[in-house]
Amino acid sequence: MADLEAMGRLAHIITQNIDNLHQRAGSRHITEIHGNRYLVRCMSCGARDRLESVRLDRLPPLCPECGGFLKNDTVMFGEPIPEDALRECYRQTALCDLFLVVGTSAVVYPAAEFPVIACRRGVPLIEINPEETPLSGLASVVIRATAGQSLPAIVERLVPGRGRR
Ligand SMILES: [Zn+2]
Repeated sequence: MADLEAMGRLAHIITQNIDNLHQRAGSRHITEIHGNRYLVRCMSCGARDRLESVRLDRLPPLCPECGGFLKNDTVMFGEPIPEDALRECYRQTALCDLFLVVGTSAVVYPAAEFPVIACRRGVPLIEINPEETPLSGLASVVIRATAGQSLPAIVERLVPGRGRR
């Protein structure tokens, strides 16, 4: 996906990963709907900062911007997705001209809703998943393979030699 972004073929990633996997691969435009385990988030103003930068000499740790309580940035089960992340997801969904759904069961809302919204606008969906999902019937193209098998093959088709790295 980082290669596709570098080629100008991929504009944005909406991810449920919390582990900097995409960042380490070189992806730059990412919305993390379940947060990031290496960050903290202010419960009042939503500011995010690196976990290491939190001062623990006074507890609970407070936001340097507004004095609100800081929590781990990851979204716990039952906790709502942060408003700024959700807003960006809807914005990207409204902008896209192709929606690639890679390796997700597509059953957890609201994440599963984004490709459906794009599809209603006439945007083609490409599903990459070894298993059938609730989105399979909506997809213009279904690739029954893992992300690790199919994405390098797509990159290879676009730039021969590059997908084999
Ligand atoms: Zn704050």
